[in-house]
Amino acid sequence: QMKDLEHENIRNALSNIQNVILVLSGKGGVGKSTVCCQLAHTLAARGYGVGVLDVDICGPSVARMLGCSGRTVHKSGSGWMPVYANPNLSVMSISFLLGDDDAAVVWRGPRKNGLIKQFLTETCWDEEGLDYLLIDTPPGTSDEHISTVQYLQGALASRDGETGAKLGGAVMVTTPEEVAMMDVRKELNFCVKTKLNVLGVVENMSRFQTPVNKLTFLSRDENGQETDKTDVVLETIKEKCPELLDMFATANVFPPSGNGPAGMAAKFQVPYLGSIPLDTNLLKSCDEGKCFVQHFPKSAASTSMNRIVDQI
Ligand code: ADP
Repeated sequence: QMKDLEHENIRNALSNIQNVILVLSGKGGVGKSTVCCQLAHTLAARGYGVGVLDVDICGPSVARMLGCSGRTVHKSGSGWMPVYANPNLSVMSISFLLGDDDAAVVWRGPRKNGLIKQFLTETCWDEEGLDYLLIDTPPGTSDEHISTVQYLQGALASRDGETGAKLGGAVMVTTPEEVAMMDVRKELNFCVKTKLNVLGVVENMSRFQTPVNKLTFLSRDENGQETDKTDVVLETIKEKCPELLDMFATANVFPPSGNGPAGMAAKFQVPYLGSIPLDTNLLKSCDEGKCFVQHFPKSAASTSMNRIVDQI
């Protein structure tokens, strides 16, 4: 009975949202929040109505990455009004309630779950509706995941055929080294167990976009005739110092039959959405809360980001 009421409340709060997507990672520091926030920025830049809910209660970085740190949410009679990063992008995070960016949250599971439930039931998402609600979760498979997934499934699972929010599934972020993927496999098994749809695996920071990639190498013969030797030179650089271009040369085995994230996705029969190279401009965009694909549209990381967005 209590559960039914809770589910009904969540369902009502999310009723004008089309698609709810969870962003998960096995480990911290692999770029989960980066992917979540830049997906949000990219979708919003394409004209979609996007909301981001940060339930990474102990390490909330979404406000900063979406350029809203220092802002506060207001509570009205109907609930919490999210903060708007731009007219298409609204954000709800515990960091808005804490005030101080450096404040530590030391809470036990039940209190965190209580807050997540409150976020899900009491946030007044845009009246005009949202096309996407992206939920940034803590790393690993904790209490918070189990309850978030249970709340959402309980509230939204019986939605088939009805209008209103649908739980689209999970985007799984990983780096390609074995220690990160070990934990992602657990996370994928968690999805199998909880019957949470996996929209796909994103491989992050696998390659490094070196500045040499931006150079053109020309050779000139005795008649002054120029030939472009860029491909040859870059191949040589790759061969002589592969670690410069492939951060995790041993783990990053393509094609999908290998041991890298693409192979792992294939084994779990979930889509491999692509890989985002290490790019200092991406890091800078996140620190400054900016939309990366708008500021650096020609970068390889932007191409990947756009391709990932096309697939979700
Ligand atoms: P997580 O949410 O998994 O803990 P974050 O998204 O906070 O990880 O990322 C950790 C750090 O790595 C951040 O400073 C972020 O800007 C940086 N980062 C993530 N992905 C990339 C990338 N592809 N290129 C450069 N820096 C990145």
